Amino acid sequence: MRAMVLGYEGKPLKLVEVAKPVPGPEQILLEVHACGVCRTDLHIADGELVRPKLPLIPGHEIAGRVVEAGIRVEGFHPGDRIGVPWLGKTDGSCRYCKSGKENLCDRPEFTGYTIDGGYAEYAVADYRYCCRLPDTYNFVDVAPLLCAGLIGYRSYRMVGRDCERLGFYGFGAAAHLLAQLAVYEGKKVYAFTRPGDRKAQQFAGSLGACWAGSADEMPPEKLDAAIIFAPVGALVPAALRACAKGGVVVCGGIHMSDIPSFAYDILWEERTLRSVANLTREDAREFFAIAPRVPIKAETVVFPLEGANEALDGVRSGSLEGAAVLKIR
Ligand SMILES: [Zn+2]
Ligand SMILES: [Zn+2]
Repeated sequence: MRAMVLGYEGKPLKLVEVAKPVPGPEQILLEVHACGVCRTDLHIADGELVRPKLPLIPGHEIAGRVVEAGIRVEGFHPGDRIGVPWLGKTDGSCRYCKSGKENLCDRPEFTGYTIDGGYAEYAVADYRYCCRLPDTYNFVDVAPLLCAGLIGYRSYRMVGRDCERLGFYGFGAAAHLLAQLAVYEGKKVYAFTRPGDRKAQQFAGSLGACWAGSADEMPPEKLDAAIIFAPVGALVPAALRACAKGGVVVCGGIHMSDIPSFAYDILWEERTLRSVANLTREDAREFFAIAPRVPIKAETVVFPLEGANEALDGVRSGSLEGAAVLKIR
């Protein structure tokens, strides 16, 4: 099969012919129809996330159809539409797994990082971590929901249900999906973009944001919560400053530049600063139940499989209007 492979960190991916994978007893072989390109793929390719499997097929927003199921697979059949997210496997036995926090598992496997992902014509995945895809989405449109949507959703749930004014710092793949859910749930959305990025600000307005401006501006009203999706540590004190008493700042990315020191008074008055790591299967079940009801619609920029390097460059430069997706079939 054809695959885009990362041979060495810091080097471009290469299009190569590799053997089609064979599913193990608990694995599904799927034909990949579309695979989203996430900022995390960029952090892996650039060597900012340590010790990836090498050579590696990246990609953890895999949407496709079951071709073959291993002998111990239950509930999935050839032809079923499935998604494969970032959380590829957990040990099921550590104290985190046993307390409903499998996202923090001590011995996890991650799709497109420690195990091969979806920048390829076929992939294998442990069936217990695959999701069923809602019928209302085509493969390209559903792919960004599998990470930007799911981890974005986990970040969104951390702001608390009583949050009325919610800010998004970095209005890209994740924020544009979660802003739709926030508006649907009656929240006021404030979008913070790179200074002067009028296009992103207009895009946020078109999705229902009541205010859009630059990340170095203060919103017209103090926020109850802010989610930071941009990998920029300097946004942490900026977001804390924009929050009212009791406000929550959630860092939704897997990698961020250093956070500058800040005065205690912007954390004082019961403001909370936290990160979100990975996702649980419960997050996926909840999100795929609500996404079609909103309905959450991804804005996508489509590339062919061999365009993966171009897609990653687009994510790096922030020049894409929407989420990058490789359309493989
Ligand atoms: Zn575990
Ligand atoms: Zn991701």
